[in-house]
Amino acid sequence: MSAGRTTPLLLVGAGTDRGLVREINEDAFIALDPLFAVADGMGGHEAGEVASSECVAVLRQQPVLTAGSRNATAEDIQAALRHVDARIREVTNARAGTTLSGAVVVQEQGIPHWLVFNVGDSRTYLMSRGTFGQVTVDHSEVQELVDGGYLTAVEALVYPRRHVVTRALGAGGNAEADYWRIPIETGDRLLVCSDGLTGEVSDEQIQHILATADEPQEAADALIHLALRAGGHDNVTVVVVYVAGTTPDADHAPESTKNTATATAGVPLRLEENHG
Ligand code: MN
Repeated sequence: MSAGRTTPLLLVGAGTDRGLVREINEDAFIALDPLFAVADGMGGHEAGEVASSECVAVLRQQPVLTAGSRNATAEDIQAALRHVDARIREVTNARAGTTLSGAVVVQEQGIPHWLVFNVGDSRTYLMSRGTFGQVTVDHSEVQELVDGGYLTAVEALVYPRRHVVTRALGAGGNAEADYWRIPIETGDRLLVCSDGLTGEVSDEQIQHILATADEPQEAADALIHLALRAGGHDNVTVVVVYVAGTTPDADHAPESTKNTATATAGVPLRLEENHG
């Protein structure tokens, strides 16, 4: 293993809840290093559920997103999203679509980065070195009105058409994601969530929970609990990743050594997954 090359030690928490109003859960998520993502399906007669679960299934099949890979590029992800888009149109007869937001862990010149991506109005937030904020920008009608100065952020919270997205996978004319590349720091806390969280819980509340929860699963559970207490009007899904430190780059170590190294550090890598 070459000196200086490191890979982040990730702790993962996640959860999803149907909420208190909707009859089915059309969200899906994947939290399997290197991919952490949330998909929020849309479409009647359970088609939204098919769209989001197909999205997650197609992403899992991509070689650059398989466990331990650190090689994905934005071009690779966009190619994968084209497969997702085509697959959803095929299986739902273009009756459904899904949002997708999240991050892929990648190495660039030996330095680990979050490669954050977004289509639609699910969101990725990052707490890093004392700062906290939403990384992604929603593709939604309400975001366009805010950007244009027609609505304030407060008015946006109650705007009747606030759930209308302007980009989606499997539906509409634009399945292009936006991308952000951010160096990973020890102590980073990443949150990916569906709008069932952000429609109920303020950014300040999210920040408080991420700052105070010792474990990512504790943060995930607390966020879902808050969304339900606020009314749970939509399906709510969260994926939370804490960066506990770094280890020597696992790509250069045999499989058995990898597991031992993780175990000895006393920080288990939790892998979770859900198809909605
Ligand atoms: Mn939703």
